Amino acid sequence: MQSGDILIPFLYAGYRRVMRQQTEIELVRFNTRALLDQVRRKHFRHITESVDVCYLQTESLACICQIAPGVREIWLHSVLNHPGTPKEVMRYILTHEMLHVEVRPRLLTESEWRAKRANKQIGDKEMEGLLLKESFHPPEFFEREAELSPAAVSGPVWSWIGRAFAAFLIIDHEREGLLVKPKAHRQLASWPRPTMAEAREFNQRWGAGAMRGCG
Ligand SMILES: [Zn+2]
Repeated sequence: MQSGDILIPFLYAGYRRVMRQQTEIELVRFNTRALLDQVRRKHFRHITESVDVCYLQTESLACICQIAPGVREIWLHSVLNHPGTPKEVMRYILTHEMLHVEVRPRLLTESEWRAKRANKQIGDKEMEGLLLKESFHPPEFFEREAELSPAAVSGPVWSWIGRAFAAFLIIDHEREGLLVKPKAHRQLASWPRPTMAEAREFNQRWGAGAMRGCG
């Protein structure tokens, strides 16, 4: 037996202990694990890895982490753990995170980065440094996402995220993610959230907003 065979389960057990202390009781109006199961059964039957989901005070709005070989966790920020979070928004987020298991990061060509620049997904300054880095969201990621979540990608889900959290989010171009400002969960706990009907109306008038395509 190699030392790694002992070390990994040992570290994983410690990690689980810490995570159990940090994860939160669900406040959303649906069962998040059941929703993840639905998403997996519908779109990701070919993925055999274990994937769990939890809410905690993390840095990103949502992310998927590999915590051991064949074991992943979707971490959802505390700001999403709220009765006002629509199931439609969560279904989109879980689909997006699962898609990261299917579509692997890769180096982009300069013209692919330039296309991202043209779509305002990155700024001029960032582009030079990014040429040598793998992108978590290569073009095929968004093509597949548009197939899996057509209404969400073009419609009100991003409007809802923008309306609910815009003042508390930072677009991290380098890591291609949405970061939540520190202490936002406390300020957002009593902050009114839009309904999906309001987000739909806003989306019709103004479009999905600048954050679409991040995360
Ligand atoms: Zn992503």
